[in-house]
Amino acid sequence: FMATVLAVGIATVDVINVVASYPGEDDEVRALSHSVRRGGNATNTLVVLSQLGHVCEWAGVWVDEPDADIVRADLDRYDIGTRYCKRVKQGKIPVSYITCSRATASRTIVHHRDLPEYDAGSFLNIPLETLDWVHFEGRNVAETLHMMQQLRRRFPGVPVSLEVEKPREGIEALFPYANLLLFAQAFADHCGASPEVMLRKISNRVPHTDMVCTLSERGAVGLNRGGELLFSNAYPPPELVDTVGAGDTFNAAMIDAALRGDSLAAALESACRLAGAKCGQVGLDGLGRRTETGRDG
Ligand code: ADP
Repeated sequence: FMATVLAVGIATVDVINVVASYPGEDDEVRALSHSVRRGGNATNTLVVLSQLGHVCEWAGVWVDEPDADIVRADLDRYDIGTRYCKRVKQGKIPVSYITCSRATASRTIVHHRDLPEYDAGSFLNIPLETLDWVHFEGRNVAETLHMMQQLRRRFPGVPVSLEVEKPREGIEALFPYANLLLFAQAFADHCGASPEVMLRKISNRVPHTDMVCTLSERGAVGLNRGGELLFSNAYPPPELVDTVGAGDTFNAAMIDAALRGDSLAAALESACRLAGAKCGQVGLDGLGRRTETGRDG
């Protein structure tokens, strides 16, 4: 089963240093390993969806500059379409400087950005009727609201997911326009509620919407559109290798399951399985070729 999925959001260059333990301010430490690769929530999710067999299009801002080569090469490798990107002449590809601590498995991120945001005008030029699914990163709230409203008004049959990773001013305004809300624990923490209580509160305002919240090594919790609370435990890999992009992998598996018509309970479990597999390897390569779950059988 193959669907056409558009994701609106960013691509970055991730500069990743693995250290034995997180350094103190003004320390100088040596990295255990170092890598430079393409990152960014929306494009990570597309790279996984592409390996799950879907046709993937990215809607973001593209700038031709030397650091962009690494992003271009990776997107080409996974056949991620860039024809709907907005092209600008000035700016830099966003960079995330990620310090991973072996001692705690935390990843501390310093992000640099000097690029305009993707705008609703560019989005509305896309032939949206050709899409089977649209996924939004919960950022750039004012423009994203406009995109989601227009999409819902003009093409109400196109299902929409929204990733809500961290709090942003006014982000709740986006919730009514999504069919699937994908929260991260950090958002629940910000709300001052447990993930379960947060989901219940949000579903009071936007009923009949499937919503889930990731819980890192504890798995994930969901609330389906019928109001049923669901849990999946995590599927820890034999060895915890790299958790960068685990949430994006989880989101890709949730979208894939929804496209296949799986129940939210089944989707939660397959998403935790795939995200767990991701934690056992470096990067996102090979995540579509699983045999052990039997999900394709
Ligand atoms: P991110 O840090 O990328 O936002 P999360 O920490 O929210 O990701 O985790 C997303 C999903 O990845 C979780 O729901 C879980 O299924 C899986 N996951 C994350 N950390 C682990 C872990 N240590 N062991 C097993 N699975 C994990």
